[in-house]
Amino acid sequence: MDILSVVKEYLRFPGISADPAAKPAIDATADYLVGLLTKAGCKAERVETAGNPVVVGRYNADRDDLPHIVVYSHYDVQPVDPLELWQTPPFEPVIKDGKLYARGSADDRGPGAIPIVALANLLQKNPDLPLRVTFTIEGEEEIGSQHFPDFIKAHREELSSADFVVLSDTESIDKDQMAITVGLRGIIGLEIRLTGPNSDLHSGLHGGPVYNPCQALAEICASLHDAQNRVTVPGFYDGVGVPAAWEREELARIGENDEDYAKFLGVDALHCHPGYNAAECIRFLPTLEFNGIGGGYQGEGSKTIVPAKAFAKITCRLVPGMDPEDVFQKVAKAIRSRVPAGIRAEIVPMQKCKAYFVCPPGRENSDPMMNRALTNAFKAAEEIITQEFGKAPIYMRDGGAIGIINDFKEICKLDSLMLGVSLPDSRIHAPNENVVIDILEKNVKTYEAIFERCAKNPKSKA
Ligand SMILES: [Zn+2]
Repeated sequence: MDILSVVKEYLRFPGISADPAAKPAIDATADYLVGLLTKAGCKAERVETAGNPVVVGRYNADRDDLPHIVVYSHYDVQPVDPLELWQTPPFEPVIKDGKLYARGSADDRGPGAIPIVALANLLQKNPDLPLRVTFTIEGEEEIGSQHFPDFIKAHREELSSADFVVLSDTESIDKDQMAITVGLRGIIGLEIRLTGPNSDLHSGLHGGPVYNPCQALAEICASLHDAQNRVTVPGFYDGVGVPAAWEREELARIGENDEDYAKFLGVDALHCHPGYNAAECIRFLPTLEFNGIGGGYQGEGSKTIVPAKAFAKITCRLVPGMDPEDVFQKVAKAIRSRVPAGIRAEIVPMQKCKAYFVCPPGRENSDPMMNRALTNAFKAAEEIITQEFGKAPIYMRDGGAIGIINDFKEICKLDSLMLGVSLPDSRIHAPNENVVIDILEKNVKTYEAIFERCAKNPKSKA
């Protein structure tokens, strides 16, 4: 199979999960994938969920004795608007200057096609490849993977028998520098809702004795960080570890400095924790952010009221060692303790996702019990990427969260090998999304090496 021709076909389906009108295109994409996986040598099917189907492709499904790799990707894409900013139509793939342009080219159809093509190629050379592979390709990633955890739970036994998950839905650095993501921050969300008087009040008739909910909210929010931008919630940093020296060294290879980063963001100063630069803060430390605050009159001109209500939306990014429920309770308790008399507070929990970390083999803190297949996969990826791109991959954490990585870990005890394919200028979720064709082609070899190396070594699941 030729990766470029496969991806060009795959990119023609306008399978936008956020758009209910695109449901026929979602179905058509799922059907296309069933065909593609079948052609590659798998037994493939659509597994229906309460939302969009998950496409499953199985190779050697009945062979419990073989090393077993789960491959994850998603076939749904983001909406295309504003359409007028696209230089070429979003669902008509176009090649320009070594890049393939189309919605989904980088997120996640281009990267997701790589392991399918890699397996097809290997099976052509060796139809009896002694490996078990299970492709799980979901259609709701761009709308929060709502039903994928149910899918994992329903297939827990099958998926848990795997050695690890491999996927390409994260970023690399540039066209010569690949990155392997080894950690993700977790997240919790909550909303504070403050209520004072039973309605907005005339500030002349009532202002003075009544505690203003906007004032209370501002005071509470202002109290949650200290002058060094550290979170003041008691116990917030419990369990937060110091990163190993190798992690800092790897990050330094990106060559980002705080000054350039501040310039890029358009701010004239950064507020990093003592002892951490910006890149390190983003990956190694938790945060408490105000995503939005509101209350009272927001319209034009002036309105002289004491508002009845105020709210703030907060999310905390978490690092390994922090338990989402525990952090939520600590933050909620700190907020409640700072609510003045005369104000009622409601604290509404929102999303919760644990942080994730897998240490590559041979590094400080690596897991001596890591199963042989994953160890081999890491080594194969490192070797082939170094050979193909001329530089060893950078192992780094990402500041964001990927819920399904956490689901695979929590539900099936599976670690994930995350090979970055898209680049910072791939324009993911934006007009003119693109992927570098050379990266697609070279990473077919990476996946082939991972599959082959695992196939060569008998199963030894720890
Ligand atoms: Zn994606």
